[in-house]
Amino acid sequence: MEKTFVMLKPCTVERGLMGEIINRFEKKGLRLVGMKMKWLTDEILTEHYAHLSDKPFFKRIKDAMMVCPVVLCCWEGKEAVQVVRNLAGTTNGRQAAPGTIRGDYSMSIQENIIHASDSLETAAIEINRFFDPSEIYEYKFNNLLSLYANDECLD
Ligand code: ADP
Repeated sequence: MEKTFVMLKPCTVERGLMGEIINRFEKKGLRLVGMKMKWLTDEILTEHYAHLSDKPFFKRIKDAMMVCPVVLCCWEGKEAVQVVRNLAGTTNGRQAAPGTIRGDYSMSIQENIIHASDSLETAAIEINRFFDPSEIYEYKFNNLLSLYANDECLD
């Protein structure tokens, strides 16, 4: 099973949408294996958004991510990275498909509800960046066979 990293952004905390968004992942059948709140710093955001450091909006997105604490989550499931990216929708909330999280809850390219890892490699880096290994829990779902066919949930 894959693990992926999701962050509920300050806009989600401030709008009181945390439970609703977490519920989406739970209903899909993903397993929550780590979760906590954290007030992010400029230092960790500079690292997290390093791929955007040459963009004119770099400082603005970092500032927006520090207005209040965020919720950090680690979700597990088969092909979890792609499943979560699909649930998130495209970056710009105005263009994201209805039914996706951004498509249903966001009107903005910046205030777009969640961050979700874009590859398995990035997920490992991001989980390591935001969680201590002791904060990630290994446990089994007793209902695995109502979520997957038996040959889908072997790994
Ligand atoms: P994604 O979050 O969909 O993987 P990126 O990694 O490209 O997208 O960007 C990271 C975050 O930076 C986005 O989620 C969004 O909050 C912000 N962002 C991206 N592009 C813009 C932009 N043109 N203007 C403002 N904010 C942006």
